[in-house]
Amino acid sequence: MKKITRDQVVFAMDKKNTPVLTVDAGEKIFVETEDCFSHQIVKDSDVLNDDFDYSRVNPATGPIALNDCQPGDILAVTIEKITLDSQGAVELYPGWGPLGSRVEKAVTKIVPIADGMVKFNNISLPVRPMIGVIGVAPEGEGVPCGSPGYHGGNMDTVDIVQGSKIYFPVFVSGANLSLGDVHAVMGDGEVCGTGVEIRAEIIIKIDVIKNKCLTHPVLESKDNYYLINSADTLEEAIRFNTEKVVQFIQEQSMVSWSEAYMLASIATDLKISQVVNPLKTVRTRIPKSIIKESWPQ
Ligand code: CA
Ligand code: ZN
Repeated sequence: MKKITRDQVVFAMDKKNTPVLTVDAGEKIFVETEDCFSHQIVKDSDVLNDDFDYSRVNPATGPIALNDCQPGDILAVTIEKITLDSQGAVELYPGWGPLGSRVEKAVTKIVPIADGMVKFNNISLPVRPMIGVIGVAPEGEGVPCGSPGYHGGNMDTVDIVQGSKIYFPVFVSGANLSLGDVHAVMGDGEVCGTGVEIRAEIIIKIDVIKNKCLTHPVLESKDNYYLINSADTLEEAIRFNTEKVVQFIQEQSMVSWSEAYMLASIATDLKISQVVNPLKTVRTRIPKSIIKESWPQ
């Protein structure tokens, strides 16, 4: 299996970045990911202070180019396995999240991971490893890895887990996929600004779906599709995502727009992914049981 190490990172998803690896469709790749702080926070006394190098926040390993993958195709990434490091970091910082005005100084909490559990004081939480940052090189200007968008990026969506498959629009030849920012566990919203930020080892498989248009990331699990969109405000993200959800149901279930809007209301779940990044992200869970035509084929 081809491997990329966690020192091969980018800090923006940008078509100007040179791929560190080129693969064929169907190949598996072993990807080491760095945590979102580039491992500068490994004990409780490490905080975001003057010694902290902010230029190394949100690294993503890559980019990986796929042969015979062109703008106008879809990139499909299957997340086969996520293996976590032995500890993660949770961080508070003034201004972060809805209660950021109450945070007077940076605070770090290192949490050990053992036997599939995150140990937070005496509270044990089952791990649910997820990928915070995953995306392709966007059209036009590069986008810092801390921001989400049509190209993916920092979506901080808890359903991007082992066993799921995520689809992206392709904007440049090769697609140029990068990923990082794994969380051992995180709740919807990511309200304090971080999950349990952690290094990881990920096995992915990447494929191309030729000549199929997509305008935003779509996630697929065994029983559901999730449409994911981000915008300046939650309201805008909700409106835009709902527009796309209704269109998706209309096309894949072969119903009228009115019926698709009704189905969106009675059979799908709109969820907040994160409220702490430069754009806010929502997703809608669409059960496969209401879809007649499987997507994207
Ligand atoms: Ca993140
Ligand atoms: Zn993170």
